[in-house]
Amino acid sequence: MLTDIETLANTRNLTDDGLKALLSTDEYDGTLFSYADRKRRAVYGDAVYIRGLIEFTNYCKNNCLYCGIRCGNQNAVRYRLTDEEILACCAEGYRLGFRTFVLQGGEDPYDTDARICGIVAAIREHYADCAITLSIGEKSKESYRAYFEAGANRYLLRHETADSAHYRRLHPAGMSCENRKRCLYDLKEIGYQVGSGFMVGSPYQTTENLISDLRFLQELQPDMIGIGPYITHPDTPFAGYENGSLELTLRLIAVLRLMFPYALIPATTALGTVHPKGRERGLQAGANVVMPNLSPVRVRKLYSLYENKICTGEEAAQCRGCLERRVRAAGYQIVTDIGNPVRPGGEI
Ligand code: SF4
Repeated sequence: MLTDIETLANTRNLTDDGLKALLSTDEYDGTLFSYADRKRRAVYGDAVYIRGLIEFTNYCKNNCLYCGIRCGNQNAVRYRLTDEEILACCAEGYRLGFRTFVLQGGEDPYDTDARICGIVAAIREHYADCAITLSIGEKSKESYRAYFEAGANRYLLRHETADSAHYRRLHPAGMSCENRKRCLYDLKEIGYQVGSGFMVGSPYQTTENLISDLRFLQELQPDMIGIGPYITHPDTPFAGYENGSLELTLRLIAVLRLMFPYALIPATTALGTVHPKGRERGLQAGANVVMPNLSPVRVRKLYSLYENKICTGEEAAQCRGCLERRVRAAGYQIVTDIGNPVRPGGEI
């Protein structure tokens, strides 16, 4: 197995059999994580980039079976932030040292292209030195182009699972793996820095599915890769399913770091939700980004994609301070930087 880890570290690739063996045991985790940490330090040193997350709407027209804000959840209390509230989040974030704002929301029909372009242009006008990331789901190529021309430069859209049959078991009819992939390629073609990723331990997922996810990412070559354990939500059809495993998620973060040395990989809030030190352990397994919440505290609990989400009670400044201490204790440092991906030779 040590040979497999070395092969992965040296060639950024491994056979399906090698990956399957590596993902199926915890025996080599220590070695795997230390190779991943070495690789991350070689490219990014001990820097941890922060992204200020603004969850600006929890309305969504979709009905993904695993999601707490799916349109079919009658128990969800819905909200939308106004343009002024979004800009106030950015102002507070900028003051705290954030140089990336991530506007995340459900696929809210209220958010016309004109509204999104207006918000993006206003942020761009005030914060020329910041990256603007959108995470608002599947759109047409024309819409993506309009947001880009308004000033957005990054887009996050997890593919969730690259296997069409598995995708159909997690999503309602009308959504497809093919369209999700089409969106990701459109975004790349337009010139966005693109982020994708998947849930670990979602219902019906097999190790083969996870290997397909890695192969899809090798094909897509995204700049950012976000993965997190699946966490069940009581108001969804998957209410009875178990949460994904912390250990397997960490193993996959390490594999991703070795396959994609230059990628920006967040230690996600979902990791911190399944274990009190989940984000710290994510950093030590190769992650180099954290995404604290800049949304107003009054709406934090309402953006409930999954159960027991952490950091819903603290103001942005408290979150920033808490994360700073956690990141330092894990052996890294938060930096005030736009945090673009390093891309030697155009590769990630
Ligand atoms: S996962 Fe995204 S698209 Fe699906 S229901 Fe939730 S917010 Fe909407």
